Amino acid sequence: MENETILRFGVFLGLFAVLALAETLAPRRPRAIPRRRRWVTNWGFTLLNTVTLRLMAVALPLLAVGAALDAQAGGWGLFNRLDWPAWVEITLAVLILDFAIWAQHLITHKVPLLWRLHRVHHADRDMDVTTAIRFHPVEIALSMGLKIGLVYALGPAATAVVLFEIILNGTAMFNHSNLRLPLPVDRVLRLLLVTPDMHRVHHSVHRAEHDSNYGFSLSLWDRLMGTYVAQPADGHDDMAVGLRWQDDRPARLGWSLALPFRRR
Ligand SMILES: [Zn+2]
Ligand SMILES: [Zn+2]
Repeated sequence: MENETILRFGVFLGLFAVLALAETLAPRRPRAIPRRRRWVTNWGFTLLNTVTLRLMAVALPLLAVGAALDAQAGGWGLFNRLDWPAWVEITLAVLILDFAIWAQHLITHKVPLLWRLHRVHHADRDMDVTTAIRFHPVEIALSMGLKIGLVYALGPAATAVVLFEIILNGTAMFNHSNLRLPLPVDRVLRLLLVTPDMHRVHHSVHRAEHDSNYGFSLSLWDRLMGTYVAQPADGHDDMAVGLRWQDDRPARLGWSLALPFRRR
């Protein structure tokens, strides 16, 4: 399992560096506020989320991956009762987990209490690779709890859980990046994956737009469930990203941490 942590951390850092460089060389939109202020805050969230998950790991060893190993040892969950080829089970498990994250994301937009937590992610004035790691620690803890429950119900191989987490982390960094992709490339890529232009619609200040495109990895779920919006009404250059009322305060860590508990 130590290899698993090193693998995940290595892929994360490597992809982060590549995307940060790519979005600097070929930016999609000009920045509203200096990068350094937002980056300190967004990395602050990542550090806090890492500590939160480490604390959870004291009670629930190895979190989602540990749950998969535990379920396997106990013979619990759907896939531990089936005898299908490993590649079929792994593919299905990754697809089901990806759909569950899509559904969880939709619910965080519909339940007012959960939206209070999730709007910390949406409060980012600019979108770039660090927006992908900007989540409130309570949302991260709830999301991990849900994932652990689902892993016990599904009983996927630990490999499937590691693969799913690497894919989710990687695609989230990709689709939040401020990377200018040639439009034909975007058009082909979004047949399968959520592209930066597709996820930017979700960060629009307009309600109808930010209640769309909930997917992080596959674009399939939004197309299937009728929540797909192809482009922002105001265009990618002129659209406003973030929350309707917001100013520069979301660039501050303390203010952002307290955001779920503020009146508006
Ligand atoms: Zn959202
Ligand atoms: Zn987002």
